[in-house]
Amino acid sequence: MASLSDIVPSGVITGDDVLTLFEHARANSYAIPAVNCTSSSTANACLEAARKAKAPVIIQVSNGGGSFMLGKGCKDPDGATAGSVALAMHVRSVAKYYGIPVVLHSDHCAKKLLPWFDGMLKADEEYFSKFGEPLFSSHMLDLSEEPDEENIAICVEYFKRMAPMKIWLEMEIGITGGEEDGVNNENVDPEKLYTSPEQVYAVYDALSKIGPMFSIAAAFGNVHGVYKPGNVKLSPERLGKHQEYAKKMLSSSLSKPIYLVMHGGSGSTDAEIRTAVVNGVVKMNIDTDTQWAYWDGLRVYEKEKHAYLQGQIGNPDGPDKPNKKFYDPRVWIRKAEESMVKRVMVSMDKLSTTGKYEPTEGEAGFPQTGTPKGPSPVVLMAAGAVLGSAATLLIKVLTK
Ligand SMILES: [Zn+2]
Repeated sequence: MASLSDIVPSGVITGDDVLTLFEHARANSYAIPAVNCTSSSTANACLEAARKAKAPVIIQVSNGGGSFMLGKGCKDPDGATAGSVALAMHVRSVAKYYGIPVVLHSDHCAKKLLPWFDGMLKADEEYFSKFGEPLFSSHMLDLSEEPDEENIAICVEYFKRMAPMKIWLEMEIGITGGEEDGVNNENVDPEKLYTSPEQVYAVYDALSKIGPMFSIAAAFGNVHGVYKPGNVKLSPERLGKHQEYAKKMLSSSLSKPIYLVMHGGSGSTDAEIRTAVVNGVVKMNIDTDTQWAYWDGLRVYEKEKHAYLQGQIGNPDGPDKPNKKFYDPRVWIRKAEESMVKRVMVSMDKLSTTGKYEPTEGEAGFPQTGTPKGPSPVVLMAAGAVLGSAATLLIKVLTK
């Protein structure tokens, strides 16, 4: 089996590289964490985690995340699009310095949010006309609130527009419980929380006629956000039934013909996650747990330095001691980032992604974690310069 580092480049990847990544993940039974980001700080934490874990990562922006990225004080109706594009641009500017592959993705888009989707597609088309690739690697449509036929028909329509740019499409079918971005399924009949193999196959049948670059989020008792354990039973083994059914219908030689995605996985056990991944889940959304981790880093810092954070001047070391180095945002936001980095790395372990990618050097040069290599060209040039000036000095002394 080819090493991922040999077949997928680092930096933001699009098109065939995204397909290669997900193919590799499906064939090797690992999944890539997709972390919701609402700022450059949280995006950087994901990149840092991926670098440290030697793993690919998916950075995703939701409609609400896009609005936040623009700035909550601005109420422009296209704000979510502008903010989502801004986050994508940020990630595109910095990803190459981290030396690992990054998939840029947009999260749940319900029917009422389609203008946001249209705006991002327009940005993709503009980017494509300049650079020959889309701005985002991948987008998600969530029409699961609508009847299945309408859900699939809208996905087909959009997928046709995305296919020439080779943008990945993720779609959802069946009902995921809980509440997210204004869609509330808290009181739904528990039996409806499981998508059937026939529903999943209907999606596969419609989308595969257009292209291979799509994945399906099927409900298997998962719930968005936080939930009280015991309310629903997570049944990731049902995902295996979707694969079996599709394999039979297609007479496919693949044991897992469909790319599946796991939503609402916060609070799932490691065994449940493993079962989902073995059954073809190649992407798992992470939001609630990294939100907590980001906050927790700050919470711990504030608790520890509380007495240094009560005014600009004056702390336990003296009434005239300045506190700037404690309240500088670069200090406390960094604590939040460090905590989030650790939590993203935990997800990478759970999804068996850790160690799958040997990072390229990265343009700014991260400390090398692998076997030490010889001195870098910069060091050699510096050494040469020192030797050169020593020789010049010696000649000057000798010719005096
Ligand atoms: Zn979902």
